[in-house]
Amino acid sequence: MSRAILPGALVNGQPATLGVMGGGQLGRMFVHAAQAMGYFTAVLDPDVASPAGLVSHHHIQTDYLDEQGLAQLMQRCAAITTEFENVPAPALMTLGAQRPVAPSADAVAIAQDRAAEKAHFVRCGVPVAPHAVIATPAQLAAVGDDLLPGILKTARMGYDGKGQVRVKTREELIAAWEQLKNVPCVLEKMLPLKAECSVIVARGADGQIVNFPVQLNLHREGILAVTTVHDGAVPPELAAQAVAATRAIAEGIHYVGVLCVEFFILEGGQLVVNEMAPRPHNSGHYTMNACDQSQFELQVRTLAGLPLTQPRQHSPSIMLNLLGDLWPEGASPAWDKVLALPGTHLHLYGKLSARPGRKMGHLNVTGASPEAVRATALQAAALLGIEAF
Ligand code: ADP
Ligand code: MG
Repeated sequence: MSRAILPGALVNGQPATLGVMGGGQLGRMFVHAAQAMGYFTAVLDPDVASPAGLVSHHHIQTDYLDEQGLAQLMQRCAAITTEFENVPAPALMTLGAQRPVAPSADAVAIAQDRAAEKAHFVRCGVPVAPHAVIATPAQLAAVGDDLLPGILKTARMGYDGKGQVRVKTREELIAAWEQLKNVPCVLEKMLPLKAECSVIVARGADGQIVNFPVQLNLHREGILAVTTVHDGAVPPELAAQAVAATRAIAEGIHYVGVLCVEFFILEGGQLVVNEMAPRPHNSGHYTMNACDQSQFELQVRTLAGLPLTQPRQHSPSIMLNLLGDLWPEGASPAWDKVLALPGTHLHLYGKLSARPGRKMGHLNVTGASPEAVRATALQAAALLGIEAF
């Protein structure tokens, strides 16, 4: 990726087109950001109604491993990114052989596997939860009591708390591994969490790296519910540690693209890394309204080989995730009342059916002070039926 793909340019006689594997909401917001800068876009996703496919210039409706689909994507696009970490690695390798792909298949492969991911964190000198890999009955038998109570997590394909079982005893651990079909897992010691936070960085192919501020995250039932970002939301020394750790994690794999790293803050105040996502992240959605550049703009810049400048947060912000639970019997929430509150920015993903737990959109709240933002966010939450925080 030595030469930039300039916005609005012609590449081999075609309008400069950026591609994305996956058509969910993250792909949709990438497409919006790319189009705002003058790029054409192509999305590969089998779902006819995929949120990104609906708004892209081109929607290639095939499976992620379909050779013709991948060939079409390469034919259309000057460079290709991904919007979810479970894109099959062989698909990214096929694409990467002919087009710039960011993040690379190698980087995505590490993030796809909790065991490989933890090993990378350890190599970077960032503290992780005490854990053991359980892929065989012998490894299960060898687990020390010091890891209990713990959380058994499938090494691959977990998200939003899925593929996880909390276990207190060895009997429960054995039953949990059965329940998870004896696939390779990581058992993590249950840690006393005071809070959770995340950091998003963007790194270019030339090694230039920039970061957003540290985001304080509240999860409910394993799903992100609220993100709060303002000076002082996370103690400054911890915030500096989290930013330095995230940069080291990205640099350690020569990462190109947008990367999010999630951390635990323990009761005792220590910072422990949890996991990483090789893409923009739900906890970075506030950047769309509270920063001078959004995480999706930075994804476009890293993919196109454009310069990066350090993003600046101009407003304190709170993001509320809007899950399908807020659409009782399909009726729309009272957006007219919510949007009457100052500094509210609604983002809906164009999903037509609202199932409980499904991510339908998010509401960003910005304001002049953290107190004002919180007061407005709490009012919006009350109107929407989101539990106070
Ligand atoms: P997912 O991939 O589903 O996001 P995570 O590993 O981030 O899975 O776990 C989901 C949530 O479960 C975390 O955000 C945290 O609230 C809780 N959790 C995960 N691991 C631990 C742990 N070792 N100790 C305490 N809580 C944990
Ligand atoms: Mg997580």
